[in-house]
Amino acid sequence: MVQTWIILAPLALHIPPAAVRASSIPPIALSIPVDCKIGGQCLVQKLFDHDPSAERRDYHCGVLTTDGHDGVDFRLRTMADMRAGVAVIAAADGMVVRVRDAEPDISVKVRKELNGRDAGNGVVIDHGNGWVTQYSHLRLGSVSVRPGQRVRVGEKLGLIGMSGNAEFPHLHFALRFQERSIDPFTGPTAPQDCKPGQAGATYVWNSRARQALQYRPTALIAIGISPVAPPASVGERGDPARSSAPTDPIIAWVDIFGSMSGDIQRFSITGPDQTSILDQSKTLDQGHLSWFSYAGRRAPAGGWKPGRYIATYELLRDGAIVATGRSEAVIR
Ligand SMILES: [Zn+2]
Repeated sequence: MVQTWIILAPLALHIPPAAVRASSIPPIALSIPVDCKIGGQCLVQKLFDHDPSAERRDYHCGVLTTDGHDGVDFRLRTMADMRAGVAVIAAADGMVVRVRDAEPDISVKVRKELNGRDAGNGVVIDHGNGWVTQYSHLRLGSVSVRPGQRVRVGEKLGLIGMSGNAEFPHLHFALRFQERSIDPFTGPTAPQDCKPGQAGATYVWNSRARQALQYRPTALIAIGISPVAPPASVGERGDPARSSAPTDPIIAWVDIFGSMSGDIQRFSITGPDQTSILDQSKTLDQGHLSWFSYAGRRAPAGGWKPGRYIATYELLRDGAIVATGRSEAVIR
């Protein structure tokens, strides 16, 4: 008997461990956990990190993640979107097991000390069969469910906020199976070949979510005009200026995600009668998960001519525009 075990044990190890696990995991189908249009009011910027080292790798073998990021971030573009209120909704039927709703919506860059409450305000839902989802950084005072409550898919849980470890308004959506963090874009058996759509990719998101959540490596988040050099952090920045004084500088700013080394960015600002007051191009020497940039001009002697000023931004990669946007302000 002892001999039999010695032979069997190494054979058993040749069965891929992931395959064994996958067959024993009950399926789950998740809806998008936010009530907004992806690519419209909301964007998916930061994905689950599949790299076990200090490097980072999203499910598409891109770098839209940070080291150890164990969920998916659904972000809003501006603070105004947060104030307007965008609902966080249950991704599947389940029972609420935990909530927290006492943390302020203050950028972590300003707040600094979180007292261990990095998730901010949140909701945890048990979906049965070992599946749990967690919704973090909700807006203070917005949590509308309580522990023990049964919720249906799509039911409102609260609003997207900026509580806890957040620099901009977003939902950190985390999925776990028996305490293990799972990327909802791949399911429990994350493919190592970076061919999304294979293996577990159809496992977790429902078909509607899969359609809406196509991989987008680069996008413009927001663009604005400001009379002062704006802070890089969304949470500290005011709303884009709609009007300013003739003696103020005119500064165009942009928030991008997924810029890459070698990209060329172009800012241009035109004044009344299409007169160009700025046309600036620059090659980026580094890629960034978040890229904030601005360019502008001081007012000429005597001030700007009153009228409408339009800022446009283009990000070019291999000759093609990968992100673009436009903003305008009136000088009175
Ligand atoms: Zn996150």
